[in-house]
Amino acid sequence: MKRPIKRHIEMETLFGADFLPLSKRAAPPAAKAAPPPKPAAPNKSATSTWPHPWEATWPADLRSLRTETLDCTKCGLCSMRTQVVFGTGPASTPLMFVGEAPGEDEDRKGEPFVGRAGQLLTTTLKKFGIERSQVYIANILKCRPPGNRTPAPDEMASCMPWLQRQIAIVKPKLICGLGNIAVQTLLVTKIGITKLRGRLTEAQGMPFFPTFHPAYILRNMSDLPLFEADVKQALQTAGLLA
Ligand code: URA
Repeated sequence: MKRPIKRHIEMETLFGADFLPLSKRAAPPAAKAAPPPKPAAPNKSATSTWPHPWEATWPADLRSLRTETLDCTKCGLCSMRTQVVFGTGPASTPLMFVGEAPGEDEDRKGEPFVGRAGQLLTTTLKKFGIERSQVYIANILKCRPPGNRTPAPDEMASCMPWLQRQIAIVKPKLICGLGNIAVQTLLVTKIGITKLRGRLTEAQGMPFFPTFHPAYILRNMSDLPLFEADVKQALQTAGLLA
């Protein structure tokens, strides 16, 4: 910078001017546009916003458990997920639903059972005057298997401790298993859901009630009355419904 201009700026600054008027003609040529910033490397845990509104009242241990799961790399699904789908619901509720694994909608939203199958579960609960926010909803797997394939045994084995800790914190009066995979995994059996559904039993040291997966009901609407009766019985057993 030429000395007279520099001195002028120094003087202007001294007297409180924080800009230098320049005529349009004197304006320097526009600086070459800076190249657009490179997109940041995807941060998997940052894709899950915190806090979700439904988590505001969670106690510290459920929150910190969720925070721990967000970085889980215990199985190969971690490299394919958009985000971990931890589970939703009050930390203290008598009823916990457990499904199989997040699907595409759940993977995108970070909340279990929000797709078509989830909507059926929600409307069935509503039919009996229960909001989904009154119950806890989780899955055996916290991450979506690609193409919604059946969870692999090693994936389920890796993920089970998360669910077991959720169960230990929430301490529901009843766990309602949704569909073959969840029910067979929690009961450690190969018996099919059609034989098991609607019968109160025990799993994970807790009263356990198996029923159909709502996605199965969407494909077999003639079984909807059975599913509704099961949900009603689960609500009654848990004490949420008279
Ligand atoms: N199916 C499941 O088993 N879980 C979900 O969260 C959604 C669909």
